[in-house]
Amino acid sequence: MSGDQQPQARVSRFVLILLAIGMILSLYLIVTATAAYFQDPQGSEWQTQLLFGLLILGVIWVFNFWMRGRTRKIDWHTVSQIKCEQEGCEYSEIRDFKEGDYVYKKLGQCPSCGGQDTLYIDLIYAYNPLAVKPLTTEGTQSAQST
Ligand SMILES: [Zn+2]
Repeated sequence: MSGDQQPQARVSRFVLILLAIGMILSLYLIVTATAAYFQDPQGSEWQTQLLFGLLILGVIWVFNFWMRGRTRKIDWHTVSQIKCEQEGCEYSEIRDFKEGDYVYKKLGQCPSCGGQDTLYIDLIYAYNPLAVKPLTTEGTQSAQST
């Protein structure tokens, strides 16, 4: 895991621990309230415990929905950057990752210089399309030009 992602992970872990404690506490209160009810149905102790137990459960439930709305799932987009190994050829193309792609995989003829078997996958990476645009390369000749 990279360093800049750690604070967020720590916060969510803290929240998870808090939620777990809340769950245990509310379950404990509900269980003891039930036990107290069977011991003394006329007593008021079990009512307070049940109320608190349900209250904590309710807070967790609402918080869960609030968290789900806040943390949008990142839709990572994986791309393959293709280059030509021919000296002096600046051909570069970024296209969607295809199954079977791997770095240094040979892709055949270069549409720019016509070099036989000089195309290869230089990079494979994922990015968040909502936050960043894919890397751009100088002298990019996209596949549309072919
Ligand atoms: Zn080329």
